Amino acid sequence: MTAMRRRNGTPVVLAFGGFDPTGGAGVLMDSRAAAAAGVHACAVVSCLTVQTTASFSRFASVPRDVLDESLAAAAKSFLLRALKVGMVGTRAAAEAILTFVAAHRDLPLILDPVLRSSSGAPLLSSSALPAYRQLLRRAAVLTPNLPEAEKLLDRRIASFADAAEAAGELSGLTGASVVLKGGHFPWRGRRGTDIVFSDGRTTLLPPIGARRGDPHGTGCALAALIAARIATGDAVVPAVLAAKSLLSKLIVGGFPSAEGRPTLFA
Ligand code: PLP
Repeated sequence: MTAMRRRNGTPVVLAFGGFDPTGGAGVLMDSRAAAAAGVHACAVVSCLTVQTTASFSRFASVPRDVLDESLAAAAKSFLLRALKVGMVGTRAAAEAILTFVAAHRDLPLILDPVLRSSSGAPLLSSSALPAYRQLLRRAAVLTPNLPEAEKLLDRRIASFADAAEAAGELSGLTGASVVLKGGHFPWRGRRGTDIVFSDGRTTLLPPIGARRGDPHGTGCALAALIAARIATGDAVVPAVLAAKSLLSKLIVGGFPSAEGRPTLFA
């Protein structure tokens, strides 16, 4: 399909995030998830990561001028309908995406606040925090998991009712709709129930069924699918519902890796 035709209709998402060479998370996953939702994704790599499916080693920066020029190139090539931001990593990346967002105020920002890997490695450097805090206030949709919500609010979340309050609090602080993902909820019968706080209302979304071995990249994929649905014109709650349903299909199609967690397959 030509750039011209995409400009005229096909929804396009821009994914800004880390490059995970296993393909299980980051912008490779984002682009496959968007494709599964029928949406074209272009991607700008915020930072390179070195990781296996079992452990995270380190991340390396992409120069600021390359980030700025790549973001501008994506915006010039397509009429972007949504921006999904995942792992930001460096201060240069946080500042570059903040500058881009400030210049594209109509572009809905779906921000997955990736702070640490599952294995505990920090995925956002402390020097990136000032710009990242401003980015949080530009988000249309935030998709934290439980540890990320606790970190953003700087408090513990002690129960499911407290989690529902926390989603509202985060929304109040940022102005964003909040999708508090239930995958880490330790409370009986609540694991996998996502809490959506949007337009002053709380909606609970039930779990998507049996998980196979906790695949890597489900958080990345969910936020990318939400962005894809928002790009096609969905409001937040229908976008999250559709994203969960699509994600369940990707999880069923997941396959085992040589070590570590299974990989989603779209
Ligand atoms: N690498 C990249 C590029 C990511 O974006 C993420 C999470 O979003 C991770 C690694 C961490 O993945 P996991 O939570 O499966 O460790």
